Amino acid sequence: MRVILLSLALAAPSPQAGLQGPSRTGWEAIQNGEPEKAASAFREALSANPRDALSQAGAGVAAHLLGREDEALRSLKKALELNPDLSYASYMLGQVAYAQGDLDLAIRSLERALKASPGSRTLAAQIEQWKKEAALHDTFVQRPGARFTILFEGPAQKAVADRVNAVLEQAYVRIGRTLNEYPPETITAILYTKQQFRDITRSPSWAAGVYDGRIRIPVQGALRDPGELDRVVTHEYVHAVLHSLAPRGVPTWLNEGLATYFEPGDHAWLTQRLRTANPIPLRMLEESFDRLDGEDALVAYAESCVAARVLVERLGPSFPTFLQYVGNGTSVDQALLLFNISPDDIQREWSRRAGTK
Ligand SMILES: [Zn+2]
Repeated sequence: MRVILLSLALAAPSPQAGLQGPSRTGWEAIQNGEPEKAASAFREALSANPRDALSQAGAGVAAHLLGREDEALRSLKKALELNPDLSYASYMLGQVAYAQGDLDLAIRSLERALKASPGSRTLAAQIEQWKKEAALHDTFVQRPGARFTILFEGPAQKAVADRVNAVLEQAYVRIGRTLNEYPPETITAILYTKQQFRDITRSPSWAAGVYDGRIRIPVQGALRDPGELDRVVTHEYVHAVLHSLAPRGVPTWLNEGLATYFEPGDHAWLTQRLRTANPIPLRMLEESFDRLDGEDALVAYAESCVAARVLVERLGPSFPTFLQYVGNGTSVDQALLLFNISPDDIQREWSRRAGTK
């Protein structure tokens, strides 16, 4: 139920101190959340000095923020060729590689960053965590496929893995039809025990699954309630599709709302909660739901689901194009106006259906 994307990596301070010219402009743009501006400033810096490792790293970070992950990996690797000691580039390469599912490169890159700043406990802890993950996955069985690769613990989980694969294949067609998006890359789904899932993802206790570049789901005993398994698998797959369609800029309420909206089954059980709950304004739900407790998280998902439904219904066949605008950095309100839909109308409709004031 939870989507973790990589802008977290931007918590690292940008290395612009003492810089001048377009390179400085680029780093400032990254800090201000303006990746297009950053990309163009770094292009300018690199055309004047193609061997400027820091600008190359900046171009990589900007590409990452624009959802161009291959370009991000290329630029960050190039930055490290130009300056092998540039620990910021090693750190970012580690984060992007991890999000792309290349755990080996992720670990090697962070080890390189740690060499440059040997005292960093955060880096050491991150490396240890990723090594644990790699060691666990090494013991897993792979069920390879063209669209989906499923990793699972062994023969006992084979039936669950088959079901997860079947649900993903169905979701690929059904959600593809509505969102007009068929992710081109093979998507990996990893099936864990409950304990492994908590250890690897460090999710809040209410989380039933995670998408962080890979779909991760605890499946112990899942076939006792196959409907619930199908719901969680579909939910996480929607996050994967949205990441492919609009890799950034989608507020959490819209991301989680769509993932919930597309789950099979009806959501009466969820939306009923809204009759008795204290409403949370949507603008408070732009960022991760992780800090919410279980009760508030349910309200957040229910409200988000209602909002997603209103948007899908109002935009109809234009919905995928609307999402693309949002993914390109247009705010939800501005994107609505492009389709002659008043954001106030949407807000009123949402309040009415969610039963909030
Ligand atoms: Zn979710």
